Amino acid sequence: MIMNPTIKHLPPKKINSFYPPQRTLMGPGPSEITPRVLAAMSLPCIGYLDPVFVDMMDELKTLLRYVFQTDNQLTFPASGPGSVGMEMCFVNMVNEGDKVIVCRNGVFGGRMIENVERCGGKAIVIEDTWGEPVDPNKLEETLKQHPDTKVVAFVLAETSTGCMSDAKTLVEIAHRYGALTIVDAVTQLAGTPLFVDEWGIDAVYSGSQKCLSCTPGLAPVSFSDRVVALVRNRKERCHSWFMDLDLVLGYWGNTNRTYHHTAPINGLYALHEALLQVREEGLENSWARHTRHYLALKAGLEAMGLEYLVKEEYRLPQLNAVKVPEGIDEARVRKALLEEFNLEIGAGLGPLAGKIWRFGLMGYSAKSENVMLCLSALGSVLMDLGYPVKLGYAEAAAHQSYAEQHAQAAQQKIKAA
Ligand SMILES: *Cc1c(COP(=O)(O)O)cnc(C)c1O
Repeated sequence: MIMNPTIKHLPPKKINSFYPPQRTLMGPGPSEITPRVLAAMSLPCIGYLDPVFVDMMDELKTLLRYVFQTDNQLTFPASGPGSVGMEMCFVNMVNEGDKVIVCRNGVFGGRMIENVERCGGKAIVIEDTWGEPVDPNKLEETLKQHPDTKVVAFVLAETSTGCMSDAKTLVEIAHRYGALTIVDAVTQLAGTPLFVDEWGIDAVYSGSQKCLSCTPGLAPVSFSDRVVALVRNRKERCHSWFMDLDLVLGYWGNTNRTYHHTAPINGLYALHEALLQVREEGLENSWARHTRHYLALKAGLEAMGLEYLVKEEYRLPQLNAVKVPEGIDEARVRKALLEEFNLEIGAGLGPLAGKIWRFGLMGYSAKSENVMLCLSALGSVLMDLGYPVKLGYAEAAAHQSYAEQHAQAAQQKIKAA
């Protein structure tokens, strides 16, 4: 008789089911998830080639083409976080020795450089100040010096700084020099305008947990026909088996679907529901809602004497980077907000660590309850730490902003009628 070894690492009996606290999420992602999306996730799991599921996959692709504003056939949710979307672009488009220009104005541009180098490409880095947009003139100069550049990559909405770049202009310049483009739209998607076809973007990736307010771990991606042709004609085999677009297409393509990997079934139900909610609200209304709550939050933060990192014209409404006042321990503020108010906000990264807070207004988190709670909680915590706060001023300024915006909207309705 074969004896099994004795069982080890038996977990103690005192481990209970995990129930997370209810938090208000106003950081750089994840954002809060709507009850509808959470309910969709808890539905029964079915097979990844079940005909009912396959029909749902087709709807998912249609819904993604709407939020990306693209006709690209190759549009689907990659299985994995935004970082997988990023890697899928680079690993399929960059081969040994390829020249890639990366415009870096924050954390995520840095990760693009890593991706280029790990694919064996040569990264030519354009540095811009963190908190400022990518400079189109520098891109043009660099392309003149390196006319053999294959790909230009940049982050449209830099979540580490709250700054938006001008994708249309940057893509137009890249194309003039015959380069393809990879654009990070993780924080942009559904929060601020994105027109993949109009702007001519070749490859774009996003994430499910930012302005789509879905469960983390899915990466909507879209590739133009130019990229599809490049992938079809490449001589080198893609260095990643999991992310090889040729293979993934066997499952996400339009015909003869076969097994590639087990799709995150329930996560895809969630994405379907989240995209349906964007469809019901309307993409433009979703963008407008992010701006509306940003204006109210801004009015309140400024009434408290706080300053934004980014110039107004480049600011992302969905990510508010605000300077920490002199003498305030920023980590203590975040800790108190979390412990006393169940409110999560983001810290600064890299050179901005300790210098800024990041207030996210993404997806379902972009609502007036969150704006008011945030202003009130922040005022309370700052006052505790000796920062001069005039009680109620920030909240009043936010209410005022909402009232002005309502009046403006009413005016426009009268004019239109
Ligand atoms: C969040 C984010 C990512 C990475 O997404 P993950 O889901 O965390 O992997 C990439 N780029 C930007 C701009 C982001 O904000």
